[in-house]
Amino acid sequence: MNIKRNILLNPGPATTTDTVKMAQIVPDICPREEEFAKNMKGLREDLVRMAHGDVDKHTAVLFAGSGTIGIDICLNSLLPEGKKILVVNNGAYSSRAAEVCEYYGLPFINLKSSVFDLPDLEKVEQTLKDNPDIAVVYSTHHETGTGILNPIREIGALAHKYGAISVCDTTSSLGMVPFDIEKDNQDFCMASAQKGLMAMSGLQFVIGNRAIVEASKNYPKRSYYCNLFLQYDYFEKTGQMHFTPPVQTIYAALQAMKEYWAEGEENKFARHHRTFEAIHEGLAELGFKDVIRREIQSGLVVSVKYPDDENWDFDKVHDYCYENGFTIYPGKITTTNTFRLCSLGAIDADDIKAFFVVLRKALEANNIQIPVKYNN
Ligand SMILES: *Cc1c(COP(=O)(O)O)cnc(C)c1O
Repeated sequence: MNIKRNILLNPGPATTTDTVKMAQIVPDICPREEEFAKNMKGLREDLVRMAHGDVDKHTAVLFAGSGTIGIDICLNSLLPEGKKILVVNNGAYSSRAAEVCEYYGLPFINLKSSVFDLPDLEKVEQTLKDNPDIAVVYSTHHETGTGILNPIREIGALAHKYGAISVCDTTSSLGMVPFDIEKDNQDFCMASAQKGLMAMSGLQFVIGNRAIVEASKNYPKRSYYCNLFLQYDYFEKTGQMHFTPPVQTIYAALQAMKEYWAEGEENKFARHHRTFEAIHEGLAELGFKDVIRREIQSGLVVSVKYPDDENWDFDKVHDYCYENGFTIYPGKITTTNTFRLCSLGAIDADDIKAFFVVLRKALEANNIQIPVKYNN
C-alpha cells in the first residue's frame, strides 16, 4: 500500500498511521455477530483504562457520531428533573455546550469568562453556593479553540463539594496529556476516535460512572438516539450498539488502541509535547506571536496571531502549505484573527521541521516579510 502521508496540523481529525488506515479493510461482517460484540467489549474496557478508570466502577459507551454528540449526550441525559447545569465557559467548545443546553431548553447557567484566560474558581464556587439546585458542572479540559488547559481537577472538586456531578469534555486531551478520571474529580469524560486515539472520525465515547448512568434511567428523556442510559443498557444486555455501529471505523479504533498501548502513554504524551515545542521553535524563528500565555497552554494547540503585513493572506498561505502536504487551520477566537497549529496525531518534531521549511517558502512566495511584523 502506498498512501500519501499528509501532516494534519488542524485540531483533529489527526494524521493516522498506515496500519490504522488499513485496519478498515476487512471482510464484510454483520455487526450483530458475536465476534463484533467481543471487539466492542474490549474497546470499551480499554477506553476506561485510557481514562485511568476502574472497569467495574466506570463504563465506556460508544456512539456513532462526531465529537459533539458526546456533549449533547452528557448534557441531555445526566440532568435530573428540576435541576440545573453550570457551564464553566472560557471558549468555543464550552459555548457549544451552552448552545446544546439552549436547544434542549435545559435550565443552565452560562458562567462565561475571557477566552484568553483560565476560569475564576472563586466565581465557580460562588455560583455553586448561590444555586444549590446545580446538579451538573460542565467544563472543557482542553479548550481546543485557544489551546488553554483548564483546571478541571479544581472544578471537579468544587462540583463534588456542592453535591453536583462533574462532566468534562476531554475530546481533545484524552490520550495526549495526563488525565485520570478519579484524581481529576470527574464523573464523566468524553473523547472521539479521531483525536487522541489517532483513528478515524465517526465514533464517540462517553466514559464515566456506571452508578450514575444507571440512576439516570429515571431522569427526563430528552432525546432518543442520544440518550446515555438507553445506549448503555443495550450494550450491557446485548453487547451491541442499539443501532448500526460504524463498523469499519471501529476496526480502525481497535488497531489504534493496540498502537496506543504499544507506544505507551508516557511516550505518547512526550511525543506530542516534543511536537508542540517544535511548533513554538519554528514560530519563534519566523517571528510569529501566539496569543495565550505559555504556562496555561495545553501543549497540543498553538493559537498564532495574524501578522500585520498587508500581504498576509491566511488562505493563500494555507493553500501553499496544503499543496505541499501540510494542513493548517483557522482560529476560533472571535475577537482576534488567529490560526492554529496543533500537535495531535501520528506526527513528530521532524514533521514540524519539514513544515516550517514549507511555511517559510509560503511566506516568501506571498511577499510576506520575514521575520513577520506586528504593529505592537
Ligand atoms: C473536536 C472537539 C469536539 C468535537 O467536535 P466535532 O466537530 O463534533 O468532532 C468537542 N470538544 C472538543 C473540546 C473538541 O476539541
